[in-house]
Order: sequence, then C-alpha cells, then structure tokens
Amino acid sequence: MRRPSAPPASGKRAQAATLEARALTKRFDAVRAVDGIDLLVREGEFLVLIGPSGCGKTTLLRMLAGLETPTSGELLIAGEVVTHLPPRARNIAMVFQSYALYPHLSVYKNIAFPLQAGGTPRREIAAKVEQAAAMFGIERLLARKPRQLSGGERQRVALARAVVRDPVVFLLDEPLSNLDAKLRTSARDELQQFQRRLGTTTVYVTHDQVEAMGLGDRIAVLDHGRIHQLGTPLEVYHDPADTFVATFIGSPPMNLLETDPVTLGFRPEHLLPRETFADGDATDPFPLTVTRVEHLGANRLIYGTLAPPHPATRVISRLPSTIPLPIDTGRRYEFAVHRRDLKYFDRITGAKRGGSAAP
Ligand code: ATP
Repeated sequence: MRRPSAPPASGKRAQAATLEARALTKRFDAVRAVDGIDLLVREGEFLVLIGPSGCGKTTLLRMLAGLETPTSGELLIAGEVVTHLPPRARNIAMVFQSYALYPHLSVYKNIAFPLQAGGTPRREIAAKVEQAAAMFGIERLLARKPRQLSGGERQRVALARAVVRDPVVFLLDEPLSNLDAKLRTSARDELQQFQRRLGTTTVYVTHDQVEAMGLGDRIAVLDHGRIHQLGTPLEVYHDPADTFVATFIGSPPMNLLETDPVTLGFRPEHLLPRETFADGDATDPFPLTVTRVEHLGANRLIYGTLAPPHPATRVISRLPSTIPLPIDTGRRYEFAVHRRDLKYFDRITGAKRGGSAAP
C-alpha cells in the first residue's frame, strides 16, 4: 500500500490531516440521518462512503464540511476539535455533484474565487491558479465560461478550484455522477492519480460500488445512519461483516441461503457446476433448476432456483467463459461451492459468524 506520508511527486507540499468523527449524530425530527458514527480517516487516505439512497452519506459529509451542525458528537481535524467551527475555518474543500461553478465567471475567476475571498494577494493568486490549472490540464480553458465546457472539463475546473487553497481534506460528493460511462472511467482514473500525487486526505461519497471498489483505500458501508463495515475493498468484498454488506457490495449480490442454524453466503462466482471441483473440495451438490441464462461476454449469469432438500431459494451463478459447459433454461444441474468460499451469518442478526459446520 502507498505510504500516505511520502512527499508528492510534483514536489508540492503534502497537505494531509486525520479526520475523526466521534459518536457523530444528526437528527432531523424523528429521522436519525447519522446515528452515532465513529470514524477515523487516516492522513492521506482515500476513504469512500457508500450506501443506499437515504443512508446518511451526504449528511455525514456536510457535517464534516461544517455545512450542517451535528445534533451530538464531535469532529476533529488533525486532532483539533472543529465541531463548531464554520466551514471556512476548517481548511477543507468540497466538490459537489453539481460542481457549483459560477456560470457568469470565467474558468480563471472560478478557480481564483476562493483565494480572492480569502484575501490572497493578486500576484500569488495568478501563480496558484496557473499551478492548479496545469495540474488538471485545463490551462487552455482559463478564459472560457463554464457553459463552454464539457462535463469532464467542468469537473476538472471544480477540482482545480478545490485544490487551489491547499486544503488538508477533500470532501467529494458524487463528483463524477454527471459524466457519461466512458468519461467516468477516465475521470475516476485521473481523480485517483491527483489524489495520490497531492496526498490529501479525501472522503468520497458515492452509491456506485464500482467507483467505491476502484477508488477507496478503505470503504465505509453505511445504512440507516450507521457504518456496517469499514475495510479495504477486498475485505469488504471477501469478508463482509453482515448480510447487508454481503448483498449491498457485489453485483450480482452474494447468494444467501437460510439453513439451520446459520445463513450461508456464497458469491455468484463461487457457485459452479459440480464437475469443476476436485473431489473433497466442494460442498454437497446444490440441485439447481435454471430459470434464465444471461450472456455477458466474459461471463454467463445463470439464474436458478434451488431444489429440495434446500429451501426453494433463488440463486445466481457467474460462470466465466472459460467454463463453456452447456447450460439450458428449464433444466436441472448440480452446482456446488468450494468449502473455503462459504460464509456464515447469524440467522437473526445477520452478523458474520466464525467457522461453522458445512452443510
Ligand atoms: P442519497 O444517496 O439519496 O443522496 P444519502 O445517503 O446522501 O442519500 P442523506 O441525504 O444524508 O442520504 O439523508 C439521510 C436521511 O436524512 C434521509 O432520510 C433524508 O430524508 C433525511 N434528511 C436529509 N436532509 C434532511 C433535512 N434537511 N431535513 C429533514 N430530513 C433530512
């Protein structure tokens, strides 16, 4: 893993601070939008907040920014309590989904705006704007107005405006969601490179799990104002803390099977035809009646229903094109899972359990 304290390749001074929430809560009348969150974002870390709509991502980010007052709890930046400091005093920069560029100002003036507002001398402003513009490759666009830019260019202007003040923390709220699919991929790549180069602590909100998996050093999975799991993308994917995380992360989601006494979980790519396993590796076979086959090129998704003795549960298998066995809708096949790929969850609470007897 990257060392957050390493100096950025550009030679620019690394700006990074820890960001900490302690029992942070925000209530809107009866709704607990953020419900007692404890979170420590490390220096230079790229942390992604992900969760379904309404889980409290934006409210949490707005509290970090100082745009929303917590009902209770504390916030610290670089170890200093900032809970009641206004946004301006926090040395953070926020980029929204809408970019919020000033339409009547040129790109130059948009980027210069936070510096002017902060009273930076004119000559210094010019140097900083040029440096930020160069960092994002938008030097040619400085005279244009936002309406004369593509979505991707606007995003870069918003990012340049965010970095120009050398913030210690970046807060990004779905900054790529206005871009088309192709541009999103390249913008994601660029964003990651900039963040690595600057080494600025970053909190990034998204509901897109591909973005979360690809961008985050760690991912915090939220639901109903609480963090269900905080871990690296691989930890969250391979070792989900509970059935919520198991089914929220991963597409298609993890298969869950109610058995006695546990809920069994297995990823679609681990549910494979019985004959692909060496003897002894696999569970007893799951008889599966195929209801649909979806051809995705590199993969086939096999939708099916388990037959007795298992409860009639719908499951999905993802077969790589390297397993070209014929599979037809309406027929029954024997599938299985490698024993090491089975996950066990508490049937009542959904929480992960340690190893348990395989079926
Ligand atoms: P989305 O992905 O849809 O943007 P989110 O995870 O960012 O959702 P929030 O916007 O933080 O969710 O909202 C969390 C909860 O708080 C929701 O139930 C929302 O309706 C409620 N909420 C947010 N802002 C307010 C407000 N100003 N007044 C009342 N309720 C609010």
